[in-house]
Amino acid sequence: MTNNVKKYDYLIVGSGLFGAVFAHEATKKGKKCLVIEKRDHIGGNIYCENIEGITVHKYGAHIFHTSNKRVWDYVNELCEFNNFINSPVGKYKGEMYNLPFNMNTFSKMFGISTPEEAQKVIAEQRAEIKGEPQNLEEQAISLVGREIYTKLIKGYTEKQWGRDCKDLPPFIIKRLPVRYTYDNNYFNDRYQGIPEGGYNVIIEKLLDGIEVRLNTDFFSDKEGFLALADKCLYTGTVDAFFDYKLGHLGYRSLNFETETLDCENYQGVAVVNYNEREIPFTRIIEHKHFEFGKQPKTVITREYPADWHEGDEPYYPINDEQNNSLYEQYAQLAKEQDGILFGGRLGMYKYYDMDKCIEAALNLCDEEL
Ligand code: FAD
Ligand code: UDP
Repeated sequence: MTNNVKKYDYLIVGSGLFGAVFAHEATKKGKKCLVIEKRDHIGGNIYCENIEGITVHKYGAHIFHTSNKRVWDYVNELCEFNNFINSPVGKYKGEMYNLPFNMNTFSKMFGISTPEEAQKVIAEQRAEIKGEPQNLEEQAISLVGREIYTKLIKGYTEKQWGRDCKDLPPFIIKRLPVRYTYDNNYFNDRYQGIPEGGYNVIIEKLLDGIEVRLNTDFFSDKEGFLALADKCLYTGTVDAFFDYKLGHLGYRSLNFETETLDCENYQGVAVVNYNEREIPFTRIIEHKHFEFGKQPKTVITREYPADWHEGDEPYYPINDEQNNSLYEQYAQLAKEQDGILFGGRLGMYKYYDMDKCIEAALNLCDEEL
C-alpha cells in the first residue's frame, strides 16, 4: 500500500468489543475511524450465528454479567437484555452437580442439608492446607475441600489449561463463587442477561456508519495501515505486534464442534460442564436455552481445550507469573510506541470478561478522546 495521506484519525485493529466501543465513542466525538478485521465477520469472540432460528454463540457461551452500573447502562442503550441467569450443571461420571459450589452441590456431594453441616465437612477437608494457598490445587482445596476439588475441579481445570493444578495460579479458581445458600446463580454480579437477538445487535450498533474492512490482517501491511491514520488502537496479541521479539506469550486455544440435533431439548440447560478428565471436552452448550427457545430442533456445541500454536485463535491468556512478567516487558515497549494504543483481552493480555473489557475501553476513551 503506498498511501501516505493520513485519511483517518484512528486506525482500529480488531472489531471485537474493545475495538468497537472505542470506534463508536471516537466517532461520536467527530473522529474518523477505520476498523480492520482479519476474520470474515465483526464482533470478535462475541459473534453469533443464526442456525435453525437459534442464536448460536460461535465462540463459546457468552453470558453478560456486571456490577458496574456505567457499563450496564451503556449496553442497555444498545440492546434489550433478557432475564437469563446462568445456572450450569457439572457432570462427573454420570452424576449431576449444581454449580457454582453452593448448598445444592454440598448437599448432593456430602449428603448434608444445612450450611453448618457443609462448613464442618469442608473445614475438615481443608485442614490439610496450611498457610496461604500457593497454587490452584491448594486454593481449591482450601475453598471447597478435597472431594469437590477431585470431582469437579481437578479434571476440568487440567483439561482447560493443559497443565497440572499445582502449576496454575490460584486466582483462576477464585473467579467462581462459593456460597452457603441454595443459590445456583453462577455469578455474584448485580446485573445479568443475554442481549435479545444475540451479541451481534450490540456490535452492529457500535459500528454503525463506521468503515470496516473484513478479511484484512494488519500484518499483511503493517506500515501501510499505520500510515493511513494519525493514531492506532491495536487489539490483537501484543507479542505479535512486536514480532515476538521478547519471546512468545502463552495462550490457550479451543476447538468448537457444533451440531444440529433433531430434538427439542437435549440437555435441559444452557451449559453442562463435563468435569472428569477422561472426557476430552469441557462443556456442552445448548444454545436455545440462552433465549428460552422453543424451536423444534436444537443446536449444541462441544468445547475442546487445545494447546495454542502460532496461527491458532488465542482465546485465553495464561496469566501465570512467567507470562505476566513477559507481558510487563511488552507493556513497557507498548508505552514507548508513539501514537499506538493497545487494548482488549489480547492487547492487554488480561483475562477480561465482556464487562471489564467495556470498562477498560471506556476508561481509555475518557483519557484519549
Ligand atoms: P476479541 O473478541 O478477541 O477481538 C479482537 C479482534 O481483533 C478479533 O476479532 C480478531 O480477529 C481481531 N484481530 C486480531 N489480530 C488482528 C490482526 N492482526 N488484524 C486484524 N484483526 C485482528 N465474557 C463474559 O463476560 N461472559 C462470558 O460468559 C464469557 N465467556 C467466554 C467464553 C469463551 C470461550 C471466551 C474465549 C471468552 C469469553 N468471555 C466471556 C470473554 C469475552 O469473549 C471477551 O471479554 C471479549 O470478547 C473481549 O473482546 P476483545 O475486543 O478484547 O477481543
Ligand atoms: N472450573 C472448574 N470446574 C468447573 C468450572 C470451572 O474447575 O466446573 C475452574 C476452571 O479452572 C476454570 C475456572 O474455574 O478455568 C474459571 O471458570 P469459568 O467458568 O469462570 O471459566 P471461563 O468462563 O473463563 O471459561
